[in-house]
Amino acid sequence: MEHPENDDLYKGLKVNKGVADVPTVNPYLKKRIQRKEYTPAEFVEGILKGNITILSQAVTLVESSKYEHQQMAQEIIEKCLPHAGKSVRIGITGVPGAGKSTSIDAFGMHLIGQGRKLAVLAIDPSSERSKGSILGDKTRMEALSREKNAFIRPSPSAGSLGGVARKTRETIVLCEAAGFDTVFVETVGVGQSETAVHSMVDFFLLIQLAGTGDELQGIKRGIMEMADGIIINKADGDNLEKAKLAAAQFRNALHLFPAPESGWSPKVLTYSGYYNLGIKEIWDMVGEYMEFTQKNGYFNYKRNEQAKYWMYESINDTLRETFYHNPAVEKMLNFTEQQVLNNEISSFVAAKRMMDLFLENLSAKK
Ligand code: GDP
Repeated sequence: MEHPENDDLYKGLKVNKGVADVPTVNPYLKKRIQRKEYTPAEFVEGILKGNITILSQAVTLVESSKYEHQQMAQEIIEKCLPHAGKSVRIGITGVPGAGKSTSIDAFGMHLIGQGRKLAVLAIDPSSERSKGSILGDKTRMEALSREKNAFIRPSPSAGSLGGVARKTRETIVLCEAAGFDTVFVETVGVGQSETAVHSMVDFFLLIQLAGTGDELQGIKRGIMEMADGIIINKADGDNLEKAKLAAAQFRNALHLFPAPESGWSPKVLTYSGYYNLGIKEIWDMVGEYMEFTQKNGYFNYKRNEQAKYWMYESINDTLRETFYHNPAVEKMLNFTEQQVLNNEISSFVAAKRMMDLFLENLSAKK
């Protein structure tokens, strides 16, 4: 129906066309921040030159779940691989509040003072912190974040622990190719992520606190067994004696564990990340470990074992993904699940049917 306002009788009334909103982003700016689309070869060239902007963009591709991005990321990683592997990789774990960020800031500044280039990565599948943590991580490591020889990258946020860990592992390759000679992989000391970190680093540091009176409680045995060094933070002021006592307790506890495969006896040290005390001793310990394991062959052995582990992890990931994204499987999965829930077929029969369907569908495609 015609609007009465448009009738000549209402001439005095005029309906104006709506006014378009003023754009919230300056269109010129939009144009300028549009990223240059690099080819994989340009990415690799930039990374090898140590260009941090290009490195960051490549890491974003690694983290992306888009198929095209993944394809490109894999191509870049493959070309970077021959230039990777030369860094010292250190895992750092500790419960929230143990002082990880304060310590990484202090350790990092110490290493940068020695002329090293440091990449700080994280595995945090809880995603609580990884949300918006670019800013969070920058302010968490205040001094380091201003250093041009430090590259701080928060945890990839999306996906399962396995997926997040794989992305971090691939990011290590890119950072090494970009010339970073030390890589920290940080994780929150809760849950399974330590195992993932352990599978990609040469040295595993466990940050602990003293003064709670029950130092050894609540520490998962598995985590302690993984540690090559246990460092007791906040050994300053009134807390100094307690920290020393805790160190003694940890040393005793370590005796109860079987000797590690590396032949290295894990050390326990006290330090203060905040007051910069005992930091040098920690790096001396890491250096000593490197020398020791390079001499006895464990360093290379472990790196090979890790490479093997990641090969199987990748195969498993790909298999799982191909299976669940297979159209025939996708179509039947819910139905089959329902059959199991209704007790019409057993779980095993259901699984076998789905696998058969998948394999048929795979060969039919060829
Ligand atoms: P994160 O959660 O493990 O990253 O821990 P933070 O680095 O954020 O530290 C948690 C709190 O402990 C902060 O308030 C720090 O200032 C404090 N802290 C960290 N290291 C030390 C230290 O060496 N001595 C003292 N006294 N406090 C510290």
